[in-house]
Amino acid sequence: MPDIAFINGHFLPWQEATISIDDRGFQFGDGVYEVIRTYKGQPFQLDAHLERLSRSLREIKLSAPYPFSVWTKWIQEGLEKADYLDAKIYIQITRGVAPRDHAFPSASHSTAVMTIRELHAVSAEHRRSGVTAQTYDDLRWGRCDIKSVNLLANVLARESARQAGVFEAILVREGMVTEGSVSNVMAVQHGVIVTAPEGPRILSGVTRSVVLSLARKAGIRVDERFIPVDALYAADEVFLTGTTVEILSIVQVDGRRIGSGCPGPVTKDLCTQWAAMLR
Ligand code: PLP
Repeated sequence: MPDIAFINGHFLPWQEATISIDDRGFQFGDGVYEVIRTYKGQPFQLDAHLERLSRSLREIKLSAPYPFSVWTKWIQEGLEKADYLDAKIYIQITRGVAPRDHAFPSASHSTAVMTIRELHAVSAEHRRSGVTAQTYDDLRWGRCDIKSVNLLANVLARESARQAGVFEAILVREGMVTEGSVSNVMAVQHGVIVTAPEGPRILSGVTRSVVLSLARKAGIRVDERFIPVDALYAADEVFLTGTTVEILSIVQVDGRRIGSGCPGPVTKDLCTQWAAMLR
């Protein structure tokens, strides 16, 4: 089963899928992206991801090169070619190829890239026992709501987590938890889910929004506010949400045990609901 590469409307062999060194995505990180996963071959929350892509494009003043219907068709075509049961679809749109100059070029065509690869799910052991995390300074810019390809601060945070032997870096700005390097972060305090509010400090996760609506439907209270790091340490439960991690329990942060040190009841309940929703 091949990994699929696609540039500007054409599927092509991986080795031939190359981008100009003048592409503004490479020169400036002048672009946005989306990551969508499939379950049993079907894209999950495709419309929500395409809506967010469209919003990201609008926010960086880049017009959408293709409508949703065209993306949907190409994604289906790519998935058929790849034939992975669980796939990860990556779409990246940049301001295209132009001589290097920070200001927008007067004439350029955006570059649209899509790749489809097999998704390797979080291990069963991580799901059963939960994972560890460490906090890291949130060094990112002021528009984390835009899914920009500028990921340097996330890269540094994630690498620091890897070197520390923990699963995720939890980003902290002025003493408050924003999100993870590749995920949103939620804490449970006395049965209430607390998570950073939507806005410029976080990426509004598609999984975050599905999980919060599952929680509300189940009668679990949700409080969208920033949680101080000390309160995170003292939380009954902490978990991550994200396309690749789904709902994943965090049982230790900065070497401190969270709650009982095992995935807690609210997290487990949400995982059960998540699984039921996918059936
Ligand atoms: N926050 C950041 C910084 C991310 O990179 C991601 C996923 O890539 C998320 C949150 C989770 O978003 P989603 O649930 O849409 O995958």
